[in-house]
Amino acid sequence: MTENQNYFVAVVGGAISGSVAAEILADRGIRVAVIEQNKRPYGKIEDGLPRWHVEQRKQEYGRIDARLKKPGVYFVPSTKLGRDLEFNDFCNNWGFSAVILANGAWRDRDLGVAGAQEFVDKGLIYQNPFIYWYNHKNEKDYTGPRYKTPDEAIVVGGGLASIDVVKVLQIDNYERAMKARGIPTDMHELEKGIPAACKAHGVDPESLGVKGCLLIYRRREQDMPMAQPPDNATPDQIAKTEMVRQKMLRLARDRYLFRVQDRRLTTGLVVENGRVVGLRVAETKIEGRKADPIPGSEHELRAPLVISSIGSVPEILPGVAMKGEYYTFTDEDLPRYSGADRVFGVGNVVTGQGNIRVSLIHSQKVTKQLIDDFMSGSNRGGTAAASAATAETRAAGQAQAVHQTLETIPALSPDRIAALEQRIRARQERVGYTSDYDSWIAKVTPPDLE
Ligand SMILES: Cc1cc2nc3c(=O)[nH]c(=O)nc-3n(C[C@H](O)[C@H](O)[C@H](O)COP(=O)(O)OP(=O)(O)OC[C@H]3O[C@@H](n4cnc5c(N)ncnc54)[C@H](O)[C@@H]3O)c2cc1C
Repeated sequence: MTENQNYFVAVVGGAISGSVAAEILADRGIRVAVIEQNKRPYGKIEDGLPRWHVEQRKQEYGRIDARLKKPGVYFVPSTKLGRDLEFNDFCNNWGFSAVILANGAWRDRDLGVAGAQEFVDKGLIYQNPFIYWYNHKNEKDYTGPRYKTPDEAIVVGGGLASIDVVKVLQIDNYERAMKARGIPTDMHELEKGIPAACKAHGVDPESLGVKGCLLIYRRREQDMPMAQPPDNATPDQIAKTEMVRQKMLRLARDRYLFRVQDRRLTTGLVVENGRVVGLRVAETKIEGRKADPIPGSEHELRAPLVISSIGSVPEILPGVAMKGEYYTFTDEDLPRYSGADRVFGVGNVVTGQGNIRVSLIHSQKVTKQLIDDFMSGSNRGGTAAASAATAETRAAGQAQAVHQTLETIPALSPDRIAALEQRIRARQERVGYTSDYDSWIAKVTPPDLE
């Protein structure tokens, strides 16, 4: 597809969704610059999935590497959009054919209690920095914030990520308690199940004196977003999903021995001597998706640490328009940022949640559609017409999306492509990326990374 050599796309974020987009573009002969804020491109795989996922992380690193090594991919590490590159300048003036945002969801959703921000790192912490620390804390050169994992902490959550936070706390507490008794154990053994690890060492878990952390959730156990029903689910499918959620929670509790209180809404902080020492919570009445506090049910839950794990949303980038917690993407099928021409979104930055597979499929779908509708001259007529026909059957509000699919992105002149290439190479040199992808990864990987 030689005509595609006249396009040059920027992808912001090099992890699952960014590397998938880059690979698809490169396979179609389109040049692609992958702008990544970190030295290593693995995103939530390295800094979100807790480090006990040894094999899975290794496999995903290998897949990301293979995608970013494709001919036609220019990897630009240590470069943050919004810090090193100004958003509007990058999207409008650099001259890329299109920009695909694949920068994930790295901002913890606010706990939603007045004044909470003031107490961050004073008895209150959030999930993203906590898991980042957990994954990197044993590296000699780690210089970030350090956290404690006291017994009887409270985790506010309910989703899968909050179960990982609970697991970190429980594993650390049992490891400390066992080691204090001279029993050798480690994260990998305890992650397979605390009762099983205790049994293997001939110790009763109860005798270790760990009281366990407490997970609180505002709706009912069966509403916890650990599994999702299919779109347009029937009442039977919803009931089945609720059973799956309860089973997942039961299995997690059996393995990691934590406590759970459902129908608990955080209404305030308990503060003493400038530190959070607990939460004020109210019991809730559930009606559909509504969880209303029951008057008179408010009480205090004291804890040495509160970890908020109620979801992640995209980071605020200077110059990017927001609608609530998200960037203003229009059209679900081909998420297009409303504030600039030819800026699109893939993966967690659009969905805010999901898993590896969901991010991968989302990126595949959006990137292929972007190429077919906007870039491939030979495909354009047919695909655009098909898109229009499908779209006609959709809600009237999506009429704008139909219009958008009929545009063409003009080819870039060889001079423009050369100028872009030069600018990218200059940035690569500035951050020390002067050789090839493999040499770079070898150079920036901490020798003691777990
Ligand atoms: C605690 C936790 C546990 C999880 N466990 C699982 C699991 O067991 N199984 C599973 O399938 N999924 C799991 N997930 C979800 C899964 O990791 C994510 O859905 C998926 O990896 C998201 O991929 P992504 O590429 O869209 O985003 P990310 O992985 O977040 O990638 C975004 C990339 O963009 C970069 N970036 C961000 N901002 C900028 C910027 N301004 N400029 C340049 N670069 C930028 C980031 O450094 C990162 O490399 C878990 C998530 C969490 C938080």
